[in-house]
Amino acid sequence: MSRIGETTLEIDLNALAHNYSYLKSMILPETKFLAVVKAFAYGSDMVAIAKKLESLGVDYFAVAYAKEGVLLRDAGIERPILVLHPQPAHLDCLIDRCLEPSLYSKNILNQFLKTAQQKKQEAYPVHIKFNTGLNRLGFGENEVDFILKELEQRSEVKIKSIFSHLAASEDPREKEFSKAQITSFEKIAERISQKLNYKTLRHIVNTSGIINYPEAQFEMVRSGIGLYGYGNDAEIDSKLKPIATLKTIISQIHHIKPNETVGYNRAYKSDRSKTTATLPLGHADGIGRQYGNGRGYVLIHGKKAPIIGNVCMDMIMVDIDGIDCKEGDEVLVFGQQNSAEVFASSANTISYEILTAISQRVKRIITGT
Ligand SMILES: *Cc1c(COP(=O)(O)O)cnc(C)c1O
Repeated sequence: MSRIGETTLEIDLNALAHNYSYLKSMILPETKFLAVVKAFAYGSDMVAIAKKLESLGVDYFAVAYAKEGVLLRDAGIERPILVLHPQPAHLDCLIDRCLEPSLYSKNILNQFLKTAQQKKQEAYPVHIKFNTGLNRLGFGENEVDFILKELEQRSEVKIKSIFSHLAASEDPREKEFSKAQITSFEKIAERISQKLNYKTLRHIVNTSGIINYPEAQFEMVRSGIGLYGYGNDAEIDSKLKPIATLKTIISQIHHIKPNETVGYNRAYKSDRSKTTATLPLGHADGIGRQYGNGRGYVLIHGKKAPIIGNVCMDMIMVDIDGIDCKEGDEVLVFGQQNSAEVFASSANTISYEILTAISQRVKRIITGT
């Protein structure tokens, strides 16, 4: 019988501490470290992760939305929290909870200034986001004068940092493009610093940027995936430790005859006698249908058991032919042995997606200290 008794996502804080110190060793001691803990800390446990990182001395946190920052504040997190994609509906709440907005367009800048004025703020810390090629969020280089002019006469806010985001930091074929983004960012930052009578932080690199463009660490780096144990690169992956391990158990074993089918739409048809196991984990838990029909596999006692047939909402069926196992036995979906990167690639996706997909229905267990 398994110790876990149900589908469980184990989160190893010792692995997190290892990854943090590895990433810190890649940057200068004076460079600040911002930990990206959006999306429940990439599907793990945002509060446990943030508390651990705060105890380790991390300088900054980032979340995508204000609501995520509120969860951190409610849990007692005191470090500054950058909200990468603040929504107009949450600007009041953002100020109330001392969260720091990324201002990326004229529209959000003006709305934030209005809210800051209504709430009688002075020198409220804001971060100005520039688009240098990702074309997702951010002011253009041609809007620098507008921003400076707008903020010059306003004492409500103060620019804490200027930042941008690389489009392909993990891809060596895009080195020229990434370097052009860095140069363009540097120029923008230079123009702004000439006009301000105070210093701002500058940051552009994410995890793969830390590894591939250490010369562009400026005053701060932002890391998400690296903290969780993945580096978009086999060599870096070998130095990091996945923090999250998804385990489940065998609910039931079936012995099927030739020509019987398994699962909805009878998508799997066996040409011989076969043994299958049903696992309490489905697309509602984050295992998308693209993992079905032989693409993804799990490990049972170290052996590969392919997912057969269509993924159901609450269950998957796996082929356990040749695996000595019984009902109640433990099953490894991904983790330190079967990496989420490898599991994700079976469905043509990336570690980021499978990690953040693990739904809140799955029990989290924190291990390590
Ligand atoms: C999510 C995000 C990051 C983190 O990227 P990783 O590749 O996970 O290190 C950094 N910066 C921004 C703007 C992001 O949205």
